[in-house]
Amino acid sequence: MTIEARQISFQYGRTPVLREVSFTLTSGRFHALLGPNGAGKSTLFGLMTRLLALQTGELLMEGRSLRRQPADAMRQIGVVFQQNALDLDLTVRQNLFYHAALHGMSRKQARMRSDQELERFTLTDRANDPVRLLNGGHRRRVEIARALMHQPKLLLLDEPTVGLDVASRAGLNRHVRTLCEQDNLTVLWATHLIEEVQPEDRVLILHEGKLLADGAGHDICEAEGQPGLAETFHALTGAGQT
Ligand code: ADP
Repeated sequence: MTIEARQISFQYGRTPVLREVSFTLTSGRFHALLGPNGAGKSTLFGLMTRLLALQTGELLMEGRSLRRQPADAMRQIGVVFQQNALDLDLTVRQNLFYHAALHGMSRKQARMRSDQELERFTLTDRANDPVRLLNGGHRRRVEIARALMHQPKLLLLDEPTVGLDVASRAGLNRHVRTLCEQDNLTVLWATHLIEEVQPEDRVLILHEGKLLADGAGHDICEAEGQPGLAETFHALTGAGQT
């Protein structure tokens, strides 16, 4: 699914947080939305998921306007927010079932889809455990599995590795890249951690509400005359020096 953001500006009260942000996301690709804390990443996610109302600009999902055809557009989106949003007292499978019910899926469909996702996330043996018993990395996997239950075409992840150890972070990042390939899923992964981004990724660098770069990581580095993404990120934003 192609996603197009056209000239999006947003302010909380009088404070501008996004300034004329435009980009296009390509079907089946991993896109990194890279920006230091406070850049406006969560605000952009809020607009893409309709938690926040668009003020200026337009968001199009496969040509459908989020403003004018919100239900059609929202059906195509799966989202993993920064804060864990699972019910800790429900089992892993119950969390998936509840999401399926919200999306109007039948019980049979819910069982089939949850079996598929649990298998793919190697969570089958944890299906009947309350989420409370799972570690942070496993909980994150459940959240992604849940976000995929209704088979969205776009997966939004807002700093999904916050609070995870280095190995879990890398594992989750690898896993989501595999999903892109397997499902032709379009992914937008927000992060302030350069190590979660690869030079082959489409990279969108956001800083103080402005999109400073948009393109393949290695092309951005070349355009900035920098040897790598860490140096490029630092040169553009003054953040993340390694
Ligand atoms: P990021 O996700 O990149 O860290 P955010 O979108 O959370 O950035 O924040 C962008 C800016 O907007 C920050 O300066 C933040 O303080 C401000 N901001 C975020 N949420 C609110 C809010 N509800 N009210 C006022 N200002 C906010």
